[in-house]
Amino acid sequence: MADNIQVSVVIPVYNEEQNLRVMRDRILPVMQELHKSFEIIFIDDGSRDNSLALLQEFTKNDHIKVIELTRNYGQHAAIMAGFSQCSGNIVITMDADLQNPPEEIPKLIRVMEEGNYDVVGTIRKGRQDSFLRILPSKMINIVARKITGVGMHDWGCMLRAYRRAVVERMIQCHEHATFIPALATVFAKRVTEIEVNHEERYGGKSNYPLRKLINLQFDLVASFSDFPIKLIMYGGILLAFLGVCFGIVLVIARLAYGASWAAEGVFTLFAILFVFVGLQFFALGVLGEYIGRIYLEVRKRPEYVIENIHPAKGKEE
Ligand code: UDP
Ligand code: MG
Repeated sequence: MADNIQVSVVIPVYNEEQNLRVMRDRILPVMQELHKSFEIIFIDDGSRDNSLALLQEFTKNDHIKVIELTRNYGQHAAIMAGFSQCSGNIVITMDADLQNPPEEIPKLIRVMEEGNYDVVGTIRKGRQDSFLRILPSKMINIVARKITGVGMHDWGCMLRAYRRAVVERMIQCHEHATFIPALATVFAKRVTEIEVNHEERYGGKSNYPLRKLINLQFDLVASFSDFPIKLIMYGGILLAFLGVCFGIVLVIARLAYGASWAAEGVFTLFAILFVFVGLQFFALGVLGEYIGRIYLEVRKRPEYVIENIHPAKGKEE
């Protein structure tokens, strides 16, 4: 592959057979009109449908390259695999389901070049998703803003542009559970965001059930901060303090009103006990999450394994 590629587009694919043809037919003319050298890299993230066969057929086009992963590693790991194989000076990431219109790519590149930005993020205008999908996104956005200290509004939108240097630094981070838009801010100095259109998923259904969204949220929090552990610690200190105060009140009340009063307070004590037990389980859960992640990291398994690369033959004409 030529080293003088100016723009790489990285697209993770998981069971998107209904969308891929339209995707290709819409993105190619957009890229051609840029008059820049480009490559489009599809990463097959262990699709169970016909996506891989379709993608292999696409590689007849010189601009298209396909990375086949051995199994499903998740969207962000798939994008990382794409990063490791792309050579553009500007790297664009986007979804394969056409929710991010390819027609917005030129705008991203223009803003990046004119403002000399390291990362151009996007805000989805008129977001076409269900309420139940938007609510978790809102939470992710708030958490991401807090954790990274970067005031971006829409972290979930994958239609983004990154400079080569930022991409290269991200590849150096061999983290298992990561959240690429947040990771990029660690390495980027000049960051901006623009509005882009958002469309309904062209075909198929979302690969993000609530379970995966909760996981993603924890990826974001746990990979970028020890905030949950701190929260538990401070919460624990506060509760212990309140517990001591309450104990003193109980002793005084018993001395003042006698034993019968204390016995009647049994249920209150139970209520308090349950609160503490609940909190302890919560704390154990959070600790468990971190330990699980540490275990994953120390085993040093690769975050993705590339089975095959289906190359784009030669250069552009
Ligand atoms: N995706 C992936 N691996 C996965 C899940 C999703 O590569 O395990 C890809 C998917 O093919 C799509 C993008 O990530 O290109 C976003 O997924 P989806 O549209 O399901 O998410 P949503 O739009 O609901 O956030
Ligand atoms: Mg989608």
